[in-house]
Amino acid sequence: MAVTAFFSAFMGVVVFFFSLSGNMGSPAHWIYAISMLAVFAAMIHTRAYSRWRRVFQVSFALLFMISFIGILYDERGSMSLTQDTVQSGEVPFCQIVIPAIIAPFALTGRVIFPARMTGHFASVMGMILLWFIATVTIGRGWCGWVCFYGGWEEGASRILKKPRVNLLSRNKDLRSFQFAFLFFVVLMSLGFMSSVYCEWFCPFKLVTEYAEISDLPSLIATVIFIGLFLGLVIVLPLLTRKRTQCSALCPFGAFQSLMDRFSSYRVVIDVDKCVGCMKCAEACSFCAIDRETIREEKGRPELTCAKCGECLSVCPTGAIRYQFSFQAVSDARIRAKGCSPVPKNAPSNRFGAYFQAILDPQYLFVFTAFTFSVIVSGKFIPDAFIRIASIAFGGPR
Ligand code: SF4
Ligand code: SF4
Repeated sequence: MAVTAFFSAFMGVVVFFFSLSGNMGSPAHWIYAISMLAVFAAMIHTRAYSRWRRVFQVSFALLFMISFIGILYDERGSMSLTQDTVQSGEVPFCQIVIPAIIAPFALTGRVIFPARMTGHFASVMGMILLWFIATVTIGRGWCGWVCFYGGWEEGASRILKKPRVNLLSRNKDLRSFQFAFLFFVVLMSLGFMSSVYCEWFCPFKLVTEYAEISDLPSLIATVIFIGLFLGLVIVLPLLTRKRTQCSALCPFGAFQSLMDRFSSYRVVIDVDKCVGCMKCAEACSFCAIDRETIREEKGRPELTCAKCGECLSVCPTGAIRYQFSFQAVSDARIRAKGCSPVPKNAPSNRFGAYFQAILDPQYLFVFTAFTFSVIVSGKFIPDAFIRIASIAFGGPR
């Protein structure tokens, strides 16, 4: 209880700083702040990290859509992108484009995405700074904890209790495809000096903004967007219980898997405690645990792990946990024995035990990941509440 109170107090400061301050008179911001603190406290107290993470991510995806579309209508009167909008750089920048802009920028000094560089909530510099800090802390944990698109698949993938199509044996193929697709997107973006993924492959156009249908290519692109959204974001996650867009077609996800080596936390598997039941592999929606991962005692998931925590909650022996990246795997094995936030050799006095508990990488990772959840959602969720209330009860926003 003391650990929950300790971390919740700090999360209260984060929520205040990134949402409440400057909005103290707004009921929507108070509802947001109290809800986020309740979710976070439940997460720490129950240690059911993934369940509460999912509650947040699914809710965020839906509310983000409401807020984002509302903002587009406020700013330009439409969801559709016109040539004028593109030329004036009024297109919000999104993290998925980051890997595609790097090579053209390095070679020509030109940012190929038509967004503002600074001075907007989705400016290029702002998103890159946020991405950089997230990369050195939670790494690919961004996909599992923060991404405002991932919640669509997260929700769809958990509707059925059992998969109708089992993709476990295809995990490796999906991962390979994702990296090959990243390579293709980077190469095409460089070749055409434009954001090829956004123009042709982004399924989330349907819930954000889309190019005006003015000719045959834009009509074809729209049909592709609709097909990808229904196929990879709704139907396949529903049937497979996997986040198929995140696992196969998201260039940012693949890029972030490669960048994850710079992050401060990782997920480890204590091979001494593992009994080979494969529950973790079945539960992992990012295709990051194979039969070989367990059989060959690799001691950690494959490259695409998004640190979502689902495997931690299903493992019957408590063999999986978050670990600092700088710790050797052997440390992880020692710490994982007993599966307690307080190691067996903890000091006998209560203060010493709490002190060790609050330095536990599990709590620190969850706190850090949820901090990013607050940073990214702190504007959009209260804004969505206000928009919903104004539609439901009328009156000005
Ligand atoms: S390996 Fe575990 S933590 Fe990593 S993505 Fe899969 S379920 Fe989530
Ligand atoms: S769920 Fe736990 S015990 Fe089962 S295979 Fe995975 S790590 Fe091993």
